[in-house]
Amino acid sequence: MNTAKRVLLPQPIEAEAVALLEEAGCEMVAAADPKPETVIPLLPDIHAIVLRTGIKITRELISRAEKLQIIARTGGGVDNVDVAAATEKGVIVTSNVGVNTISVVEHALALILALSKQLSLMDRSVRSGRFSIRYQNLPRDLRGQTLGLMGFGRIGSTLGQACRQIFGMKVLAYDPYLPDALKGAAADGVAFVGLESLLRQSDIISVHIPLTEKTRHAVGEKEFALMKPEALLINTSRGAVVDEAALVKALEQKEIGGAGLDVLEQEPPSADNRLLALENVILTPHTAALTRECVIRMATEAAECVVAVFQGKEPLNIADRNVLKNRRWSQLMRR
Ligand code: NAD
Repeated sequence: MNTAKRVLLPQPIEAEAVALLEEAGCEMVAAADPKPETVIPLLPDIHAIVLRTGIKITRELISRAEKLQIIARTGGGVDNVDVAAATEKGVIVTSNVGVNTISVVEHALALILALSKQLSLMDRSVRSGRFSIRYQNLPRDLRGQTLGLMGFGRIGSTLGQACRQIFGMKVLAYDPYLPDALKGAAADGVAFVGLESLLRQSDIISVHIPLTEKTRHAVGEKEFALMKPEALLINTSRGAVVDEAALVKALEQKEIGGAGLDVLEQEPPSADNRLLALENVILTPHTAALTRECVIRMATEAAECVVAVFQGKEPLNIADRNVLKNRRWSQLMRR
């Protein structure tokens, strides 16, 4: 690069990613905080933004960044970027798809195991002098149980293979949008069934579908009514995919056995959220992808996208490829 390219960091990113950008000759512009009023004055001079979740890059912000070439998200979603506005201005938006798959799979597995082995209850019991809980044989084995996957994309399919291979679980999947070609290798030993069969037959139901207007409350009263009384629901996708009021009712009325949730309809939950009071629920604060290793992978990949564009190469995972029709990208080296 001949001239230093300026990369805006509305929030700090991992040192490994900063090093990668600096090695490529970029100059970091760190905002004091991610508030629009702090970020806006920095925009006219910057060429790239490495974006976490603390600020939404709106049409207005994009219009103020005349030199901006790329907005690189350090996560999977681009919901905090006005992608249409960016595309109109010829600004490439990237996300990092798949980088967090294994971390989310491990988290879903941790929730499955914690619920099946009753880790919260066992821990509380030992601490409060009730060691004798060991005689109640409350934990369950996974071996021989049926895992039902709603969504057989990157996370669902990887979790399915892990549960089949490590624990010998029977794996069912429901994914009406999956192309037949993808039902091949990844789906070895997995039975694709209709939603009703999956809900009726599964001991553990794990949700791995995106949140869209079609999937909002995809798991609700009707779906809980079909589940086994001891079924465990795992949700590491998005909170609103599950109707939380219906989930609370199903748990309180013992229509299902328990729930492991990394995501909630409202994050953070309000203090009176009834899930917080339920024994058979394990909650984590949307941390499935926030492992020490994964945050480095996400930030590094975002930095690589920025460097690729500055070096005239097409970056990974462009959110809207129509942007490449803009004249400014006519010389970009395509993959
Ligand atoms: P993916 O796009 O690889 O897979 C999603 C799958 O869901 C696709 O195969 C699609 O066909 C299927 N699908 C869509 N609508 C469906 C429906 N109504 N019923 C059944 N299947 C349906 O996505 P992924 O990488 O596996 O991620 C899954 C979800 O996990 C993401 O959409 C995201 O919301 C969530 N996620 C959460 C975290 C976290 O920190 N908790 C991190 C990463 C991803």
